[in-house]
Amino acid sequence: MNVNGKRDYYEILGVDNGVGDADIKKAYRHLAMKYHPDRNPDDSGAEEMFKEASEAYQVLSDGEKRARYDRFGHEGLGGMGSQGFSNFDDIFSSFGDIFGDFFGGGRGGGRSRRGGPQRGRDMAYQMEMTLEEAALGVDRELEFERTSECAYCGGTGAKSADSVRQCSACRGSGQVAFRQGPITYSTTCSTCGGAGSEIAEHCQECRGEGRRTEKHKVKIKIPPGIDEGGRLRLREEGEGGLKGGPAGDLFVVVSLLPHDYFHRDGSDVLTQLSVTFPQAALGAQFEVRTLYGSSRLKVPRGVQGGDLLRLRGEGFPARRGKGDHLVQILVETPKKLSSKQEKLFRELESLERGGVNKSGWGGKGFAGIFLHAWRWFSRVLRHLGANIPEDGQAASRG
Ligand SMILES: [Zn+2]
Ligand SMILES: [Zn+2]
Repeated sequence: MNVNGKRDYYEILGVDNGVGDADIKKAYRHLAMKYHPDRNPDDSGAEEMFKEASEAYQVLSDGEKRARYDRFGHEGLGGMGSQGFSNFDDIFSSFGDIFGDFFGGGRGGGRSRRGGPQRGRDMAYQMEMTLEEAALGVDRELEFERTSECAYCGGTGAKSADSVRQCSACRGSGQVAFRQGPITYSTTCSTCGGAGSEIAEHCQECRGEGRRTEKHKVKIKIPPGIDEGGRLRLREEGEGGLKGGPAGDLFVVVSLLPHDYFHRDGSDVLTQLSVTFPQAALGAQFEVRTLYGSSRLKVPRGVQGGDLLRLRGEGFPARRGKGDHLVQILVETPKKLSSKQEKLFRELESLERGGVNKSGWGGKGFAGIFLHAWRWFSRVLRHLGANIPEDGQAASRG
């Protein structure tokens, strides 16, 4: 539950946070079918469920709104119109395409007759981004080719107004009648496709197509925290419509470029840091490059190779707050030693040889491993009944 008394959108649709668009659509369809007003007449409970699911779908099916919701919850959608639907007509006009498949398009508005205004097709644009851009958000101008109505002929495909003439087959009505027995049927004219007109001379700019390909630019604002495969929908930035119809939508799909320093893991970011033996043993301070610039990292005394140190809140923006930056420690073994280093290492080595060994192997190097193996082997043999002397003797013999 949220402070506004609103339920979580993922919970409403019964899906996990990370699911893809197809699953969100599927979940919504399932609920929409179940609580559809046609199936539940005069059931205000079903009506509420239907509206609630529709609101959840409206947000989660829109890449930009979803990213905001993931990051800020319901509050983050304040200016983006998630105030809910007031009536069913709103819902049907918003998701006509979904209901079209399921309810025979009966209530989904905007389906055009042939010859009338036509909505342009949707387009997809694959946009590559760096991990830093994904973390901080970015403004871009996209340039791509799209088709739109031919400006020379206004989408008619005719060279001029004079080259459009009445269809001779249907005499401009768009319908042709034929008789079968006592009944007269009428059907769409096949010559003009129901338009009632035909073109004597085609527009040369578009070769009669009514459409042309042109460069199109669009500005886009990517919100912080977007992940691989994240989608944003830009209304009416896709292919142009015909005869006054609206343009289709442009779907921008985000693809994150591999990074030679940062590695993303959900909302966390991982990097590695090499430290020397003395730094690992004594502890040290480092300035670590982060998604947002740099941060001071305290490597504690006695850090081990493979340890993960955490810089809280330095990861990617997430549903609540930010993820962390995890730094994996690599302890560097020097490949070349100066004579002074060599001397110091030897001194250190002899010092350690005299000390207490705490490792589980009971010794060092080859001798230690041999001793460990012998102990294990003799234990097995004793267990089997062999007369093997006790540990200390075995060790002195080895
Ligand atoms: Zn005709
Ligand atoms: Zn044209």
